[in-house]
Amino acid sequence: MLTKKALQLSLKSLREFAKKRLPDEELIALDERDECPVEIVRHMSNPDKLGIQLLFIPEEYGGMGGSTFDVYLICEQMARIDLGVATSLFATFLGSDPITFGATPEQKKYWLGKIAEEGALFAYGATEPDAGSDLGALKTTAERVEKDGRIVGYRINGSKQWISNGGIADHCTILANTPAGPTWFIVDAGTKGFTHDKPENKHGIRLSNTSALALNDVYVDADRLVGGVEGQGLVQAQMVFGYTRVMVAAFGLGAGWAALDRAIPYSAKRVQGGAPLSEKQGYTHKLIVPHVARLEAGRAYIEETAERIDKGTEGSLNTEGAIAKYMSTEAGHAAADASIQALGGYGYTHEYMVEKISRDVRITRIYEGTSEIMEMTIGRDRWQQHLKTRGQHYHERARQVEDMHAAHPEVGADIAALALHALAELMEKARINKLTRHQHVLFRLGEWVAYAECAATLARRAALAVEGRLHEKANDRFDAKALAAISRIFGREAAIKVAHEGLRTIAGADGVAAPGMTAFEQALNLTAIFNAQSGLIADMDYVADVLYGRVRKPATPETTETVLHR
Ligand SMILES: Cc1cc2nc3c(=O)[nH]c(=O)nc-3n(C[C@H](O)[C@H](O)[C@H](O)COP(=O)(O)OP(=O)(O)OC[C@H]3O[C@@H](n4cnc5c(N)ncnc54)[C@H](O)[C@@H]3O)c2cc1C
Repeated sequence: MLTKKALQLSLKSLREFAKKRLPDEELIALDERDECPVEIVRHMSNPDKLGIQLLFIPEEYGGMGGSTFDVYLICEQMARIDLGVATSLFATFLGSDPITFGATPEQKKYWLGKIAEEGALFAYGATEPDAGSDLGALKTTAERVEKDGRIVGYRINGSKQWISNGGIADHCTILANTPAGPTWFIVDAGTKGFTHDKPENKHGIRLSNTSALALNDVYVDADRLVGGVEGQGLVQAQMVFGYTRVMVAAFGLGAGWAALDRAIPYSAKRVQGGAPLSEKQGYTHKLIVPHVARLEAGRAYIEETAERIDKGTEGSLNTEGAIAKYMSTEAGHAAADASIQALGGYGYTHEYMVEKISRDVRITRIYEGTSEIMEMTIGRDRWQQHLKTRGQHYHERARQVEDMHAAHPEVGADIAALALHALAELMEKARINKLTRHQHVLFRLGEWVAYAECAATLARRAALAVEGRLHEKANDRFDAKALAAISRIFGREAAIKVAHEGLRTIAGADGVAAPGMTAFEQALNLTAIFNAQSGLIADMDYVADVLYGRVRKPATPETTETVLHR
């Protein structure tokens, strides 16, 4: 793990490098030319220069052994610079993941050492033309080559689609079917029969190289099989989802903030209707503040999950990684789109960057698992929790949050508790009426889970800030009072979303007969959820004041009288 000082130094060098080598004009020109700046990616991977990849590599293999928390902060910073370049660096990280988590000690020493010492670029070859979200459908094969009854190598045939760094990587990890199932192999660029297509002409992240790969009778020695045992590929890929999805979540967060950080100063200067736009609620309370709240909800979840992963006692936290990714990438994209709107006609032109950020951040909702696959992952896992606890899982979590409200009435924990209780009621209704037979219901549950859990986590983050107990490296853009206001804003949104959309969806799946509707509304505690909206505009005013540096008077915390119905 890095010291706080070492991390700050790395972040500073990254910012300074970007300022010098990747100013806006250069980014716009590269984007327009649809060009991956390979020499910049190599410079950033060179251990004698920036050596960003050293953060991802354990110390025993020559890296700096950055924690999940460190890597989240670096990913956020890279995304603030350019998501294409960030993707290119991330591809080496992703490409080496099967090695980090599944390789033999000799393989780790050799390959991770190569990345650390030589700055070797990797690509991660999982997706195929017919196998995207469903990797189990992969068709690439690895046939055993035997000599004297011993496996000496493999002959790989197939194709891979949309591989980041596909055309520039020195080595590629390739997922292929062996007789014992999907298995990772390391293939060198230039190996006979291993070719790549021309770069894809993409909507965004045009500074990253994305290419299809073809493998025609590509021979690799047996020691290129990651871990030395066939059939471990999907397990090895699954082992890191919690971690890698937190990284992509950080991409969404960084890009979303990069866009807002252009819209905020713009609106402070842009005068329309006799005053700066920053003074108009119709502007700030639609285009800025709600996006800040959603991004910070995503951040709270990222930070909490990163801390939990770093403790190393709770497994890979795949569902938590999915929640972090879902919330932060959806929020990042929405924030970038709102930033185009916030800049009006200027926002629609290349020069002002927000349209590029909006095109770039769009991919974070697709790669490393689409948003819908995240909804499915989250919905399925928490549904199981609901069944296992006989419907008490979210009521119990709500009670914990209510305890927090008792200690810190200003952080919006009471509102988060309302969302969690409502979620438990929706799940129970879905169980009784067997509604998860509708895939739509299960996926929507995934979304409401993400909102309710993020509301609770953001309230917890605000409470920790009040107590001065945030992670020493935690982002400190907002003080405790501002975080509490942001938490109340997001909590209100989460509670309304869960209850309202939940009611609609459950009713839409024929789960509520008309006479039972009133009782169901009461179970969801709709009145309390509506009452909890009181104070929303005052909180938005306060957060806008903080964002525009014009905090004049302390906000009056609007705590709601929560009807604690459990
Ligand atoms: C720029 C870019 C870079 C990439 N980099 C890499 C890389 O480096 N390495 C790599 O291996 N891959 C990479 N990918 C591939 C990426 O991970 C996949 O595109 C992604 O996983 C989705 O797969 P797909 O495109 O085949 O879409 P599909 O799986 O076909 O999905 C299409 C749509 O259907 C939805 N859907 C899918 N399954 C279900 C279901 N069961 N129920 C309901 N809805 C469903 C999806 O959410 C999506 O909206 C990259 C892609 C892009 C565009």
